Amino acid sequence: MDAYNIQDVLTELKTMPQQKDVDLITRACYFAYKAHEGQKRRSGEPYFSHVFETAKNLARYEMDATTIAAGFLHDVIEDTSVTEEALEKEFGKEIVQLVKGVTKLGTVKYQGHVRHVESLRKFLMALAQDYRVLMIKLADRLHNLRTLEHVREDKQRRIALESIEVYAPLADRFGIGKLKSEIEDAAFPYAYPKESAEVEKILADRIDGLKKSLDDVYTELNDALKKSHLHVKKIDYRIKHKYSLWKKLKERNMNIDNIYDVVAIRVIVETVEECYATLGIIHSLWKPLPARIKDFIALPKLNGYQSLHTTIFTGNGGIVEIQIRTEEMHGRAEFGIASHYIYKEKSAKKAADEKFQWVSEFKNLGKSETGTDDFLKHLKSDFFSDRIFVFTPAGDVIDLPEGSSTIDFAYAVHSDIGNKASGARVNGKFVSLDTILHSSDIVEIETRKDGTPKSKWLDITKTTLAKKHIRTYIKEHEEESIFTRFIPKKFR
Ligand code: MN
Repeated sequence: MDAYNIQDVLTELKTMPQQKDVDLITRACYFAYKAHEGQKRRSGEPYFSHVFETAKNLARYEMDATTIAAGFLHDVIEDTSVTEEALEKEFGKEIVQLVKGVTKLGTVKYQGHVRHVESLRKFLMALAQDYRVLMIKLADRLHNLRTLEHVREDKQRRIALESIEVYAPLADRFGIGKLKSEIEDAAFPYAYPKESAEVEKILADRIDGLKKSLDDVYTELNDALKKSHLHVKKIDYRIKHKYSLWKKLKERNMNIDNIYDVVAIRVIVETVEECYATLGIIHSLWKPLPARIKDFIALPKLNGYQSLHTTIFTGNGGIVEIQIRTEEMHGRAEFGIASHYIYKEKSAKKAADEKFQWVSEFKNLGKSETGTDDFLKHLKSDFFSDRIFVFTPAGDVIDLPEGSSTIDFAYAVHSDIGNKASGARVNGKFVSLDTILHSSDIVEIETRKDGTPKSKWLDITKTTLAKKHIRTYIKEHEEESIFTRFIPKKFR
């Protein structure tokens, strides 16, 4: 135990924990240490180092004491002689539930495809019950990724790809941008070694020049804001993380000059009004690129992200993006649902349920009777493919997978509207129902009282929800017609 100082975990917490929380975390730490005693990681390090780092990651993400304790204990049932009953006796039901939810994925036992998907399904079900399971799993995965060099090569790639395709999008859907970036960047070199090296090189060649334009803007902006009466909390900058830079580079012919937010200045101010005032000051100093002024405060991203973005010409050839937000928005952008701003308001679980409608969609998906392959397919296409955000005429945001049609939209609003849809208007223009939607379209559906779903709609819909409703309707309708055809009227 000497090599591990519990204080290292506690100091990651921004707010000082209460004594009872310190006690719980300490108890879990010692319990895990004893349980894993003698076990070693592939790296030769004691196994305990893994659960210690997992707990530390959880503390870094400002999780509550119960979750941090469960982080220490997350491998105890599966990898040691400690039983579920023994753990429950020592730490209670809540912690056992969390530990059980973090079903190990991709261990040797679960290598078969079906078993693997099955454990993923179980994991997602547990996650839908309590989002803290996800946080433990992500903290666990992050440490595994950071020690991936010690793992067999064929496994490295599989774990890295799974992290990028499943875990990072999950972190993103909960708005935990920082964790998403950390997972992607830890996995990137193993998932795509060649591409990762290429991005490293492109960035290295450019970074000095980028930092120079950044410095110039920073100095001038800092002076101007000081002269204003705004309460500036912080001005700093971020460099786009490597995996997301690579994704953008692919879209832009691998030319870094076509990407305007490789570096971005971040201004944190006190209030929303001050965000807009700051934007005004910036635009009076530099010319903005017109199409790149984005108001995510009035129109937040679906994962809750809020900020004002603008991109300016520095005047000496450079282009710099500036992001403006309040401290609270900043906390949410980095920590999402784990942000202590949300925490303090209500239980984090409740906040997650209210804020993230798709969590309940998860629950329904897990319950359906489709086969495991179907389940994974739906999961990938519905939740992890790129999303578009479109609007109802009243300004409500509807979140759909890319490639969705007006029919998908209609069903997303209400099954009745889907079933009775007869026409659609996109951005005020009449269009056919098979029209593919794009982000920020305003969509209006016309319905007819006697309208019914058509079987060809199955080909022009993308979401499982719409297809399900269409199939159900057609099936019921078919049964009805068989009924009418073969059964004499008096028996009906
Ligand atoms: Mn683990």
